[in-house]
Amino acid sequence: MAKNHYETLGVQKTATQDEIKSAYRKLARQYHPDLHPNDEECAKKFKEINEANEILSDPDKRKQYDFELENPGAGSFGGFGGFGGGQGGFGGGGFSSIFDDLMGGFFGGGGREDSTSKAGKSIKIDLDLSFLDAAKGCKKEVKYVRDEPCKACRSTGAKNGTAYTPCSKCNGEGTIQYVNSNGFFRTVSRKACDACSGKGKIIQERCSSCNGKGYQKTTTTVNLDIPAGADTGSYMQKRGFGNASPFGGPAGDLIVEFRVLPHKIFKRKNFNLYVDLPIDYKTAVLGGKVKVPTLDETIEIEIPEGTEHGTQLLVRNKGIKTQRGTGHLYVNVLIEIPTRLSKKQKQMLEDFDESVEIKQCENMKKYSDSVESLYGDKPYKKKK
Ligand SMILES: [Zn+2]
Ligand SMILES: [Zn+2]
Repeated sequence: MAKNHYETLGVQKTATQDEIKSAYRKLARQYHPDLHPNDEECAKKFKEINEANEILSDPDKRKQYDFELENPGAGSFGGFGGFGGGQGGFGGGGFSSIFDDLMGGFFGGGGREDSTSKAGKSIKIDLDLSFLDAAKGCKKEVKYVRDEPCKACRSTGAKNGTAYTPCSKCNGEGTIQYVNSNGFFRTVSRKACDACSGKGKIIQERCSSCNGKGYQKTTTTVNLDIPAGADTGSYMQKRGFGNASPFGGPAGDLIVEFRVLPHKIFKRKNFNLYVDLPIDYKTAVLGGKVKVPTLDETIEIEIPEGTEHGTQLLVRNKGIKTQRGTGHLYVNVLIEIPTRLSKKQKQMLEDFDESVEIKQCENMKKYSDSVESLYGDKPYKKKK
């Protein structure tokens, strides 16, 4: 389950920023890994303390965290907790299943509206990620407008949150049975009660903050901790960050779908990276060392002697690093033919070519022999 950051720091939920700061400093000193080398329990505790402080020392993040604490089921904050399609996907589920959801298609997860008709509508927004942000993971703050559950009345619409009576028209059911007679046909259906808008209760005194609706249109900020490996079409789902329910049910979800922007050098497929590497003719023939970029730095790779155009070299574990595994880097070798040769250069190439025997070129030799056996003709002018 999601950890309660207040408990981690040993402070009250009402603690001031100063109290949080001093509690954090005290614990951080106490559990600092320098003081407890090779103590894994301590290192874990130190990490938790830092995570708690990161959230609680930031008023915006704290506000969001408080909301999630008050609304269990509203995707846990930070880490990879916010992931998950449909009902679950956070807490003890482990990263693997969570990531499956992330990688899954947008419609695969299933929404909550289907199962709970009283829930608010989910909101879907699209978010562009740079290639490197998506590959390496990043934090993003997203602002969007939604019907936010009213805090003043706890979404009831009633002043002080409790002052309402059961609706007399529907006996508190929220729905009414309608009977339609049309000649021989009689249809029975249930519809939302118009007297109480399907809530089943009548507010005695309206909440002044939301004018009795139980929600208000508000610009909401959500902080996303996007793990490495997000791809176009993958998404994060934040429970309870969608629209408030007009019927007193839970708020819908926020679904953020990603679009990864192209990169000048890198291409990717799942967690594997692809780089086109142009090399010169000489390196292809003699072999050599060339630097290629990875996500963090350049690395030197060895081009083997006699590398053909279009050869794909594999550099293991230099692709996208995720909790679920690490991809590889594939280097596509492209031999570039030099242009605008000087007279002298052309002559040098002629002289060189003159010295090369056809048996040094395996494919040319095979081709030459085949054509010759067919028609007695030599396809190349080479003498040797
Ligand atoms: Zn009613
Ligand atoms: Zn209200």
